[in-house]
Amino acid sequence: MAKRDYYDVLGVAKGADAATIKKAYRAKAKELHPDRNSDNPNAEAQFKEANEAYEVLKDENKKAAYDRYGHAAFENGMGGGGGPRGQQGDFASAFSDVFDDLFGDFMGGQRGGRRSGAQRGNDLRYNLRINLEDAYSGMQKTITVPTSVGCDACNGTGAEGGSEPQTCPTCNGMGKVRAQQGFFTVERTCPTCSGMGQTIKNPCKTCHGAGRVEKERSLSVNIPAGVETGTRIRLAGEGEAGMRSGPTGDLYIFIEVNSHALFERESTNLFCRVPVSMATAALGGEIEVPTIDGGRSRVKVPEGSQSGRQMRLRSKGMPALRGGGSGDMFIELAVETPVKLTSRQRELLKEFDKLSEENNPQGSSFFKSVKSFWDSMKS
Ligand SMILES: [Zn+2]
Ligand SMILES: [Zn+2]
Repeated sequence: MAKRDYYDVLGVAKGADAATIKKAYRAKAKELHPDRNSDNPNAEAQFKEANEAYEVLKDENKKAAYDRYGHAAFENGMGGGGGPRGQQGDFASAFSDVFDDLFGDFMGGQRGGRRSGAQRGNDLRYNLRINLEDAYSGMQKTITVPTSVGCDACNGTGAEGGSEPQTCPTCNGMGKVRAQQGFFTVERTCPTCSGMGQTIKNPCKTCHGAGRVEKERSLSVNIPAGVETGTRIRLAGEGEAGMRSGPTGDLYIFIEVNSHALFERESTNLFCRVPVSMATAALGGEIEVPTIDGGRSRVKVPEGSQSGRQMRLRSKGMPALRGGGSGDMFIELAVETPVKLTSRQRELLKEFDKLSEENNPQGSSFFKSVKSFWDSMKS
């Protein structure tokens, strides 16, 4: 089945701003609320579709990736969303999580009700170090994430051989028990089910009733061009599996870009110090400078250039993460004093120096200032 465009799903114009997207999603969530859709078998699928679209469009980085590459941006990342497991019972609970997110306590007491034993899996953080060249071009990176995934043996239920978990008899599925202590009634986690609200008579032998097992997973992640240190890429549903068919957590990839031997980066601009010989700086000429794409650019050095002179190469910087062109590259000339001179070079330089004095007998403006300073001190 072809995936619908995320903007179409939420019914907003392409490139709509964050506030519009959030508003459209709220409206969809209200419309598809399970309490209002008991006779609409498609509500769950529609809600999931809207949810997936919102997960992407509310996140600046993902939205940018989607605007650039469409669904292909998440082919390996988002994939099956929450995965094939556990989609049945947890619609309402996933929904109420989202709802709480959006509307705060608006839903009131719903949360305290009977629990299904399902718990959302943890979010995972993955630190990814990349080179500046890769940040420039963007890349597809395969990462290995140690995580827990739904147990295949019991389909994530935690119960052996298809047997159903039972509502906990101690707490009646509430996950909590009350005890009288003096004047107070205290509520504590049910000791029988550890707050899950369910007990399992025959726990699955593979996962010992947790419904998930530890595993290493390989994920192919699309790193968009222009990322920088601190960029966070969220892969919804690629985190830790939930307990007993609970929703899967998310995976956050934190980017760190290595410093580069040649280029310093400031947002989308790059800076590079380029050595230039004393003769070239004085006479003018052309030099070749490296560019981040691995190529080279020829740059004209004007006659009489001093150390520190900056020149700009337009659009030779880093691409902007959210599209809209590239930054510039600035090069700064560093005039090199010649060292390890041969006697011939020495001779020539001495001659050169002598000619310089004859050529410019008054000296530079600096020396003129020094002279008038000394003169003023004498008087
Ligand atoms: Zn199992
Ligand atoms: Zn219990």
